[in-house]
Amino acid sequence: MADLITERLYSCQNCRNQISRHDDIISKGFQSVRGRAFLFYEARNVREGIQQEKMLISGTYIVCDLFCCECGQILGWKYIKAYDDSQKYKEGKVVLEKFKITNASS
Ligand SMILES: [Zn+2]
Repeated sequence: MADLITERLYSCQNCRNQISRHDDIISKGFQSVRGRAFLFYEARNVREGIQQEKMLISGTYIVCDLFCCECGQILGWKYIKAYDDSQKYKEGKVVLEKFKITNASS
């Protein structure tokens, strides 16, 4: 194996638009209503939906949906504001659903 300096990237499962980097993962232990999800520091090439208040398992948040800017499929959501102090670290962070993204290196 050659020692290539390549970033491990996550892309949209649908159109391969680059969304985030492996280095930006905060937690892989997230769960959405539809399955497993990852928490990222940031996402690129996404479009934000309207902000809305949502009650999630860990508390109430203001979140917005995130869409792929290329194909428009929903990828996850972004935490805008957390009401619970213990969840403040999520503010500004992004959750992407595992089955919506791929880390295929090809
Ligand atoms: Zn896409």
